[in-house]
Amino acid sequence: MSAVGLVCSHCGARYPVSAQYVCTQCFGSLEVAYDWDAVRHRLTTEPFPCHVPNLWRYRALLPVGGGPLIDLGTGFTPLLRADRLARELDLEELWIKNDTVNPTYSFKDRVVSVAVTAAQQMEIPVVACASTGNLAGALAAHAARAGLPAYVFVPADLEPEKLLGAAVYGPQVVAVRGSYDQVNRLCVQIADRLGWGFVNINLRPFYSEGSKTLAFETAEQLGWSLPDHVVVPVAGGSLLSKIGKGFRELLDLGLVSGTLPRISAAQAAGCAPVAHAWEEGRDQVQPVRPNTIARSLAIGNPADGALALRTIRESGGAAAAVTDREIVEGIQLLARTEGIFAETAGGVTVAALRRLVERGQVKRGERIVLYITGNGYKTVTALEGTVQQPPVLEPRFAEFERWYGSAPAPIRQAV
Ligand SMILES: *Cc1c(COP(=O)(O)O)cnc(C)c1O
Ligand SMILES: [Zn+2]
Repeated sequence: MSAVGLVCSHCGARYPVSAQYVCTQCFGSLEVAYDWDAVRHRLTTEPFPCHVPNLWRYRALLPVGGGPLIDLGTGFTPLLRADRLARELDLEELWIKNDTVNPTYSFKDRVVSVAVTAAQQMEIPVVACASTGNLAGALAAHAARAGLPAYVFVPADLEPEKLLGAAVYGPQVVAVRGSYDQVNRLCVQIADRLGWGFVNINLRPFYSEGSKTLAFETAEQLGWSLPDHVVVPVAGGSLLSKIGKGFRELLDLGLVSGTLPRISAAQAAGCAPVAHAWEEGRDQVQPVRPNTIARSLAIGNPADGALALRTIRESGGAAAAVTDREIVEGIQLLARTEGIFAETAGGVTVAALRRLVERGQVKRGERIVLYITGNGYKTVTALEGTVQQPPVLEPRFAEFERWYGSAPAPIRQAV
């Protein structure tokens, strides 16, 4: 295993590989520490295996040992050139990393696949999570695959689609009357007392490493080169920070050349603690009470908010917050121009890109990658009332002809 322990991101104290996430000396958050000489050596003798068409091709840079992997085929999702959307936004080179096609239809499969594999290797008997929805489905599916008992804690008002999308895999779902942040606080106490492996709490150092694979894949799919600018949706801030870490690791290993891409954050105006801190030039994030249709991003007190802010600043990125109305327009724009149906978080990302372009913070000539992290079928209710009822015809050509002949011109042009 190339991971040799955990290290405090604040004071540098070292700990063995274990389900621990805070430094007992200074309460800083813990990260996985690697033996970089061993990683370099491994990569010269066995480079990333191309025949592994998923995130595990980057196993050498992930915190798992030689044991079995909990794998549903997550990752190596399409990176698509998005010329029609680019034209709409007056950009030259835009790419979409389409993470809506993962096994449970969100990027959370990446972090869970890594965390559950690590949990099994550490012989943790029960896995669990606090979730705004997507994590619940990803954890339940991977636990089923691993044959591990799973507990999934969600806010009691979770969207029915997301509840069903987790329950079908057979975990114990527990609905908690309260906000996500309250659910999470409860789970911290359970983790402390029962020693379960909460993927987003005490397994967080392992979980968050899974997000690096989005950076690795982007670079590989661009022919081992880097984009100039990436736009990333932010909930707890782990995804954005670890995409930055992933690009840095590739630069440090000499697998790509150039400079760190600019990393910009996308948030919903109804829950924008990171975007507001960035706009006001603060280093710390002030918790908010979320109120937005982008439920998967509705974390009012982001665990990695400060780290995300630092990543944005050090990379020369920016941040934008968009309204619920802009989110719906963003979903529609992406679907109509590129044929990709994203959930509300995807609408946030597209709308935030538009805002960043308007403000001159994303430049026309940059090579841009947009991370689209969840599937539209997860949040269909967000589009309620936006879809026109179709004409209903008898199955006769004459009837079709009558309708078609009297239909307004735009319908006939569109065909
Ligand atoms: C969880 C999630 C994110 C962001 O994750 P963080 O690491 O918590 O910032 C983005 N998009 C979707 C769809 C998610 O479910
Ligand atoms: Zn410390």
